[in-house]
Amino acid sequence: MKRTSARELIQIEHTLGAHNYKPLDVVLTRGERVWVWDVDGNRYLDCLSAYSAVNQGHCHPRIMAALIEQAQKLTLTSRAFRNDQLGLFYEELAALTNSHKILPMNSGAEAVESAIKSVRKWGYEVKGVPANKAEIIVCSDNFHGRTLSIISFSTDPDAKTNFGPFTPGFKIITFGDADALEKAITPNTVAFMVEPIQGEAGVIIPPPGYFRRVRDLCTSRQVTLILDEIQTGLGRTGALLAEQHEGIEADVTLIGKALSGGFYPVSAVLSNSDVLGVLKPGQHGSTFGGNPLACAVSRMALKVLVEENMIENSATLGAYFMEQLKGIRSTLVADVRGRGLMLAVQLHPEAGGARKYCEALQARGLLAKDTHSHTIRLAPPLVITKDEIDWALDQIAPVLSGNV
Ligand SMILES: *Cc1c(COP(=O)(O)O)cnc(C)c1O
Repeated sequence: MKRTSARELIQIEHTLGAHNYKPLDVVLTRGERVWVWDVDGNRYLDCLSAYSAVNQGHCHPRIMAALIEQAQKLTLTSRAFRNDQLGLFYEELAALTNSHKILPMNSGAEAVESAIKSVRKWGYEVKGVPANKAEIIVCSDNFHGRTLSIISFSTDPDAKTNFGPFTPGFKIITFGDADALEKAITPNTVAFMVEPIQGEAGVIIPPPGYFRRVRDLCTSRQVTLILDEIQTGLGRTGALLAEQHEGIEADVTLIGKALSGGFYPVSAVLSNSDVLGVLKPGQHGSTFGGNPLACAVSRMALKVLVEENMIENSATLGAYFMEQLKGIRSTLVADVRGRGLMLAVQLHPEAGGARKYCEALQARGLLAKDTHSHTIRLAPPLVITKDEIDWALDQIAPVLSGNV
């Protein structure tokens, strides 16, 4: 059998693919738990977890079995008919997350779009906002996905430049500033949408007490609080949802990524208020949303997350990993921060950018992602063991000590 080399595969991608990513030059072919292997047989510890979509670890055997079993029975019915997985998916997800209504979609961006549509409709039909005047408040340096409406309120020039004209109706305030939210709310504000921790911005944690004030403001001014937990959710920060660290509950929560353990795109809008209640037949939909394969995979992805104590592991070993990272003596490191297994090492600008350190880590068998030039993100699957973290630290310490 002809085997195409890594170099050739990279060349094909370069020639035929749109260049909308700049991946590390590692061509992966197999994964198991926290480990992935490239086409030349080299093994790496995955410290990105597909942006937290494989929290349960690569190719989790129980999720794989659920996928195969369901794929042999029924994969797609469309929502024109019912299937025997959707109801059980709703029931288990609602019980786990304390939600009253669920809207199943596929990608994270679709969940965000669906929330925007629903909350605007809620604004007109329930809150009484005049037609086409609904405002949604969001934060600077947000990341909510790549569709046109979503990038309309991005503050990242790469995400936005030359993609206009943009969708109106969004107001941008500083992340972590509750006073700014108070000032920005008007009678036409239908929602405040925010990430509990800004992941793509470099794992930015807001000041203590921020979310309690946000919650109070949203409640008192009849503004729907939408938390985008697509990255922070499902155990990543050491809690099922990151809102639990803040002692609050969102009105609408968006999840995706690890909702399928990385097997399949599955996302959902979870609602505790009457927001999703405004959607009537024919007003919103998705051919693949809520399909039986997605539901079966997702049910098992949630089950293993809980039954195999991945959330607790994230809390305990995340704290250990962070403490050990903070103990590394390095003149390059400006800050180590994170929550659970959502960690970031921020380098001083003099370090010359995070990319070359990620490449040095790759050479030592650890895959991590540079974010916003000076930050290295570390977010391994939640099934990682203490020994594996110690192994990771043995690779990270020399690289951060400048022995690149
Ligand atoms: C990844 C992500 C999204 C978008 O999800 P896709 O599945 O890539 O569309 C939205 N919000 C946050 C916080 C994310 O991390």
